[in-house]
Formats: sequence, C-alpha cells, structure tokens
Amino acid sequence: MNYDEKIDLLAKLLKKSAHTLALTGAGISTESGIPDFRSPGTGLWTKFDPVKVATVSALKRDPATFYTINLDRWTRYSGARPNAAHQALARLEQERLLYGVITQNIDGLHRKAGSKTVWEVHGHLRTCHCMDCKKSYPLDFLVDQFNSGTNPPRCQKCGGVLRLDVVLFEDPLGEDFFHATQAMTSCQLLVVVGSSLQVYPVAALPERARQLAIINKEPTPWDERADLVIHEKAGQVLTDVLAALEKL
Ligand code: NAD
Ligand code: ZN
Repeated sequence: MNYDEKIDLLAKLLKKSAHTLALTGAGISTESGIPDFRSPGTGLWTKFDPVKVATVSALKRDPATFYTINLDRWTRYSGARPNAAHQALARLEQERLLYGVITQNIDGLHRKAGSKTVWEVHGHLRTCHCMDCKKSYPLDFLVDQFNSGTNPPRCQKCGGVLRLDVVLFEDPLGEDFFHATQAMTSCQLLVVVGSSLQVYPVAALPERARQLAIINKEPTPWDERADLVIHEKAGQVLTDVLAALEKL
C-alpha cells in the first residue's frame, strides 16, 4: 500500500469506527520542539538514562540533585506550542470522530490544542504537591523557589519537600490510567501517534483495541499486529487524514 492509500484507509477506519481513541507519546511533540526519549541521535535517552535520574528513590535520596538534573528539562516544555498533530486530534474530537486522547506526555499540549477528553496517564506540569502534608500548589510555586536558590523547593505549610505531579519511574500510575483503561474496553479503533510502545503498562493498551493504527516514524513492537502502520511524521499524516476525511 502506498502513502496515499494508507491515508485513505485511516480516514475510512475513523469514519466507520463508533468509538475511537488516540494513544500518544513523546513523538507527537517533537514537532513542537520537545525531544522524545528514544529517537536515534536526538532522543533524551542518548544523553542520560531517565530510568536512573527521574525516579522516586532519586527524589527521596537527594531532592536537590533531583531538581538540578530534571527541572530545567521539564520547565522548558511550558513554552512549547501545539503542532499540527495535536490540532488534528482536537479537530477529530470536535467532529465526533475521536472520543478522547490517552497521552503519556506531560507537556499539556493536547489541552492547549483544544482536546477536551484527555487522560494524562503520566501526569502533567500544572501543579505540584508536598510529599508530607499533600498540600497542592501551582507548579510556578516550586519553580520560583528553585530559581531564587531554594533547592529543594519546600511546602509553605509544613516545610516538606515538594514534588511535581508527574509520574516518575517507580511510581504507580494514577486515576487517569484507570479511566483510560476503562475507556479502552469499548474501544473499536486505537490510533497510536508518536510512541515507541515500550513503556509499560501503557504499551499493553493496544491489546484491548479491536482495530489498531500506528503512526510512528520508526517501527514498534506492535506493528505486526496492527491493521495499519504509517512510518511518517505525525503532523503531516494527521493533516492529510483530515483532508481525506473531507473527501469521503
Ligand atoms: P519514545 O521516546 O519512547 O518514542 C517516541 C517515538 O516517536 C519514537 O519511536 C520516534 O520514532 C517517534 N517519533 C518521533 N518524532 C515523531 C514524529 N514527528 N512523528 C511520528 N513519530 C515520531 O516516547 P514514548 O513512547 O512516549 O515513551 C517515552 C516516555 O517519556 C513517556 O512515558 C513520556 O511520558 C515521557 N516523555 C514525555 C515527553 C513529553 O511530555 N513531550 C517528552 C519526552 C519523554
Ligand atoms: Zn506540607
């Protein structure tokens, strides 16, 4: 099948499916200037191992070093803008061709693009909370302390160390993952966009979909079981799919 035939097929699958979900990963945000983990050459994995630095035990053992290593990378996400791929998914939801987005990303770009039903299964960068008394603060409260030299940033109420509301390695997944898993039980078509499908338990979600389409620059372990695989850039593919839908 050539590229145009694949785009037509994806448009048809979307039109036919009564319950479609998208599952997105770091690859959907690379076109917004945020590096992913596993792209060869540019992925963060080529520079350091997140499994070692972004862990709960690293945060508990030495919170100041944890923030020195990680915070800059996370706060840089806040200036990023949604790209054509995020916008296309928001548009598909508006047109009732997509029920919602399950995202592994913490960058908030789906909501910024206008998607309404979004499960952020690895958390987000809007808030943080005290590890002792659990009081919640906007993320800026933590960042402002760090930038003015208070490291680790601390709770105003009890002095406990603050942590971001992102899922770190060794953390259990939260409520959003539970809801995403539930939504998957009625999923007819799952469209994976920009994920290497290597981070569990999210990488097991395609198992629950009746049909599977994968848009990812590189092969994934799920390609063989997918109904459709497109190894191209997400922004272009989803823009082309919107155009193909208009012609159906
Ligand atoms: P990953 O880095 O493991 O895989 C990304 C995949 O996207 C790669 O296979 C790559 O080939 C593909 N890709 C890159 N650019 C693309 C493009 N323009 N179009 C289509 N495909 C493209 O990412 P993952 O599967 O999401 O797992 C990494 C973990 O890292 C996730 O848990 C996520 O929470 C976290 N993370 C998040 C962000 C973010 O919030 N934007 C950034 C880096 C890492
Ligand atoms: Zn506290």
